[in-house]
Amino acid sequence: MGDRVLVTGGAGFIGSHVVDAMQEEGFEVVVVDTLESGGRENVHPDVPIVETDLRDPALSQAFQEHAPRYVCHLAAQASIAKSIRGPLVDADANIIGSLNVLEECRKSGVEKILFSSSGGAMYGEPVKLPCDEEHPVRPLSPYGAAKAAVELYLPIYSSLYGLKHSALRYANVYGPRQDPAGEAGVVAIFAGRMLDGEQVFINGSGEQERDFVYVEDIARANVLALTSGDDEAFNLGSGVGTSVNEICSRLCRLTGYALAPERRAQAEGEVFKIVLNTEKARDALGWEPRVSLEEGLSRTVESLRESRQRATN
Ligand code: NAD
Repeated sequence: MGDRVLVTGGAGFIGSHVVDAMQEEGFEVVVVDTLESGGRENVHPDVPIVETDLRDPALSQAFQEHAPRYVCHLAAQASIAKSIRGPLVDADANIIGSLNVLEECRKSGVEKILFSSSGGAMYGEPVKLPCDEEHPVRPLSPYGAAKAAVELYLPIYSSLYGLKHSALRYANVYGPRQDPAGEAGVVAIFAGRMLDGEQVFINGSGEQERDFVYVEDIARANVLALTSGDDEAFNLGSGVGTSVNEICSRLCRLTGYALAPERRAQAEGEVFKIVLNTEKARDALGWEPRVSLEEGLSRTVESLRESRQRATN
């Protein structure tokens, strides 16, 4: 078996950066994606994309044909709001879909799976900040519950079948290729609306704090976790809390946006403050975020500007 990595959700926002990082490391990469929210344009043309749903029998063919050594599993219904509107739809995609991936890993003898979990949705309202991996798991949304459920299956597959895993609990990931028209991703939504001169809405007081981490740092953590941190869960964030109001003002400055943001109701199912303790990832994976918030926001705005220019040319 060669060093081939199968990336589910590899045409999406984070997945496409994971694909880039794996290619840079010299891995052969294959993507499995419905292209429902992701796009072919996010992926290097050399990378084959198997266009299928995780719940489709074609998933099995993809594993047989490409015989990956490693799997990075990112494909998911990734919106908290959608999971509240449709918990069954969410569980079907995120729990049953993930179980299908685990089954295919078992059948085709995959060495290790990296599961994209959520440090933002997993712990609920933290009793202590920054929140480490030992914090009680008490999600506030079906999306968070589904991530927690899949994390329970991972050690079972490790002990029964020797499939190694790492559960990577991402904070709020932002950066180029995040969909500004999506339901998740405050940085992309704000920046997109600001560049288009549209009204920006802040949910609740805007004093809610999130831990923002740049997407390339997350992609690098995936590379590191292929060969370290076996059978453990890791928080991956900046370790710093930033309010939504602060993100809004920084993006106003970067985009030159002058309209006053409007307030609307606090979103359901989201925590008020979350900041992740990432010492475990530093010690076991040798991972630390490298891109500062200032630099990351500026790169994100630049990339959105360029994509708007390309669209108008
Ligand atoms: P995304 O929507 O950009 O990417 C998901 C990709 O998966 C898309 O390309 C989509 O077409 C594909 N997909 C969705 N359902 C599928 C299915 N059933 N079968 C095959 N393909 C399917 O989302 P993202 O923000 O890049 O998130 C990637 C992963 O990281 C998800 O598992 C998400 O839950 C997790 N995560 C994201 C964040 C964040 O801040 N963005 C934070 C924590 C965890």
